[in-house]
Amino acid sequence: MKFILDTEKCEGHNRCYTFAPELVDVDDYGYASAKGDGNVPADLEDKARLCADNCPEFAITIEE
Ligand code: SF4
Repeated sequence: MKFILDTEKCEGHNRCYTFAPELVDVDDYGYASAKGDGNVPADLEDKARLCADNCPEFAITIEE
């Protein structure tokens, strides 16, 4: 699974970081980006989907 975060769409609500700090980096202004190469370990797949489902800006997509 790949975790893709479109930084152009992110408005910095930090919901994704709250759900999955393992997958998300946040800058000093609260804007998020995918951590590392975006590959999701199997044990974090549920959290990745939670992030995508709860981003109010639809900035996160998941590639299965
Ligand atoms: S939930 Fe969406 S808008 Fe909010 S910080 Fe994460 S990617 Fe950005």
